[in-house]
Amino acid sequence: MEQVAWQLVVILIMQGLSREIALKAALLTEGVWATPEALAGLGILFKEQNHGLFGWDFEDHEEELLPDDFRLPLGTVVQFRKNGRSPYSVQKHGDVLVLEKNGEALTEVFWLDRPEYYSRATSDGKPMVKVAQIGGEDSFFVCYNNFCSHWSDGRQCLFCNLVPTISRYRSVLGRKQFDHIGEVAAAAFEEGAANHVLLTGGCFPGENETEIVVDILDSIRKQTGLRRIPGCVLASPPKRLEEIEELYEAGIDGVGYSLEIWDERLFNGICPGKAESPGREWFLETFDKAVEVFGRGNVFCAFVTGIEPQETLLEGVEYMAERGVYSLAFVWSPAPGSKLAGHRTPTVEWYLEAVSKMVDSFEKHNLPDSPNHCYRCDGNTLFHDEARLRAENLSLNRP
Ligand code: SF4
Repeated sequence: MEQVAWQLVVILIMQGLSREIALKAALLTEGVWATPEALAGLGILFKEQNHGLFGWDFEDHEEELLPDDFRLPLGTVVQFRKNGRSPYSVQKHGDVLVLEKNGEALTEVFWLDRPEYYSRATSDGKPMVKVAQIGGEDSFFVCYNNFCSHWSDGRQCLFCNLVPTISRYRSVLGRKQFDHIGEVAAAAFEEGAANHVLLTGGCFPGENETEIVVDILDSIRKQTGLRRIPGCVLASPPKRLEEIEELYEAGIDGVGYSLEIWDERLFNGICPGKAESPGREWFLETFDKAVEVFGRGNVFCAFVTGIEPQETLLEGVEYMAERGVYSLAFVWSPAPGSKLAGHRTPTVEWYLEAVSKMVDSFEKHNLPDSPNHCYRCDGNTLFHDEARLRAENLSLNRP
């Protein structure tokens, strides 16, 4: 009897999770808005956007404080992408935040708690929140360079709004000192706001990115006391493949590279700067070496999904999975400041089909669970949620 009751609970959770994934796909592709009453407490009790890297909203919002992300009842984390014309909105009813579609209540939602360190300053007085932010519910996020050399000659990726975002909002420090990053990491891990790290930045003109990242990792390890750092460095492919070993030795457990688009001709057109330097072939060599050094399941390839056809995207995901690489598949936002601003994403059904096939690829090649990035780390991917749903399904069928 108890076994049956437990199975019913798991079925309900699975149905709920399945609905949450579809809802998340709709919210990421349609955007959402919130009433002033619903936004009360942001920046004080609840975590606000700080535009640490790109802007993901469908429209600029100047001084208006908005949530970075929010949680659905079964734990699915959703990035908040403002769109004043979306049918989805968050309204406050009494003490409860309710997600509505065209005025019809769908579910309760929850803003995420604001980490305590967001109100603190580094030892020399810099606001800690301008150095590093929390992605989702547990990812210590640092953009170590809010500039990218591909912007200087107009060869930026067509979906990218890195440079307009930093100049519009000026909410974070463009370049951060290594010791500040370590100090803020110590504060974040100590208060339990972080379980993982994600370090990334735009391409460096004439500087050695690996040396910079190694110094940052040294500072994080020294100041947090961590022997190895759970998380991922999402970097540009290095000039020398030996630099990947240097990164591993500096204590990070995962590494990734943003190829963005799999189809070669589309890659050349959509990422002209990257296609020229370092070039697609060098990306592919870098992934092979990274798996050799970091091991299967600890290497990530970031794809922006929804720009290229599903067929070629899935070819790329399969190619990567076969080699032990996870695809970190972000749901594209045609955001202001990017050359593709105002375009439309594919449908919710397109994303649900794509993510299901992606996770099929991960399973087919037995990618081990990644301890370096999880469904709580950010709200702009769907594959962790799909994998979580399948894990619940497995537990239901277990004798
Ligand atoms: S490499 Fe492309 S996506 Fe990354 S910061 Fe530069 S232009 Fe933007």
